[in-house]
Amino acid sequence: MALDTRSLLVRTAVVATIGMMATTVALASVLRPIPFSDPSSTQGASSMTATQSTDTSSVSVKVFDTSGKLVGPLALPRLVLTDEEWKERLDPEAYRIMRNAGTEAPFCGTLLDNKLEGVYSCAGCGLPLFSSDSKFVSGTGWPSFFQPVSPSNIELRQDTSYGMVRTEIVCARCGSHLGHVFNDGPAPTGMRFCVNSESLKFTPKDKLAELGEVGVATFAGGCFWCVEGVFEQLKGVYDVTSGYTGGHQNPETLPVTYKQVTTGATGHAAAVRVTYDPKVISYESLLDVHFATHDPTTLNRQGADVGTHYRSAIFYANEREKQVAQAVIDRLTKEGAFRDPIVTTLEPFDGFQVAEDYHQNYAELNPDQPYICNVAIPKIEKARKVFPEKIKPEDS
Ligand code: FE
Repeated sequence: MALDTRSLLVRTAVVATIGMMATTVALASVLRPIPFSDPSSTQGASSMTATQSTDTSSVSVKVFDTSGKLVGPLALPRLVLTDEEWKERLDPEAYRIMRNAGTEAPFCGTLLDNKLEGVYSCAGCGLPLFSSDSKFVSGTGWPSFFQPVSPSNIELRQDTSYGMVRTEIVCARCGSHLGHVFNDGPAPTGMRFCVNSESLKFTPKDKLAELGEVGVATFAGGCFWCVEGVFEQLKGVYDVTSGYTGGHQNPETLPVTYKQVTTGATGHAAAVRVTYDPKVISYESLLDVHFATHDPTTLNRQGADVGTHYRSAIFYANEREKQVAQAVIDRLTKEGAFRDPIVTTLEPFDGFQVAEDYHQNYAELNPDQPYICNVAIPKIEKARKVFPEKIKPEDS
């Protein structure tokens, strides 16, 4: 009489595939196939082509930081698992869809009618893929979005199965099947990313910090050429950017230039933004390196560099960072690490303006410049000597 569970699953899968095919066949007469690779174009579907890295072990993607903000693109390792490991990680239905390009039954997915604000991540690796901001009711029976959170987070591949030419969407980091994309979506993209609920995991807007994979810290300690050069050395640090923060939020004077900042009139500090893997290096360890490689006891001054823009400061993004920073200052004070009192300011982070291009990677690109030789390189060498266990291997 009743079908057993296995028969039901097989039947559901067949119905779902036919449903997706029927939708596709019906649309095929009016839709062009989505171009899946055209790096020369910046329009429409072509702009959705993921960034392809020459390093096949990593992929350039956007992820959430521990404060719940989307950051990147950053070069992160791809997730490569064996078939057995995927079977352990995913339940049977998710495995069938994500690892064997399956399709769930239409109008049955758990996320189809989800109207909450938040982010849809890959159920295989947690990479953020779509936002509720781009979700719309397509009537097709599958969750539909008009764009991904970042073109870099998906890859588009030509799919010629079932005698059709379609464009498959896969996760850029783990390669799992997500669904297909069609060019019958709403404005502003005109695209419909048709995705299986089973391929997605939803996180509400107020819990995005739980998706945090990277930390972002902001420090100032004199000339940012030096501070950037120091943090670039550390294992677990993905990126260091020189810029300006902590200034007056006057719309008439923003954005600021290096010349304006160095007058001191804008209130900004020359600072660095450090993007890091908290599983490899902690915020506290970053602070230890920072305090060991600049003088936190001279008010608005580092050696010959004088002015409020050269102040020693920690720009905390949340209460936890503030507490950790204060604890490190208290510990160093108790240990008598410095002869004079630490005057480093703890300031709430209020945004970061990236400095002019010529300031980025300055020490690395200008090793023979006198200031770099005499001021920056000694600080970099001190970091390497005091924290050898934290230094990246030479070939990385
Ligand atoms: Fe994934």
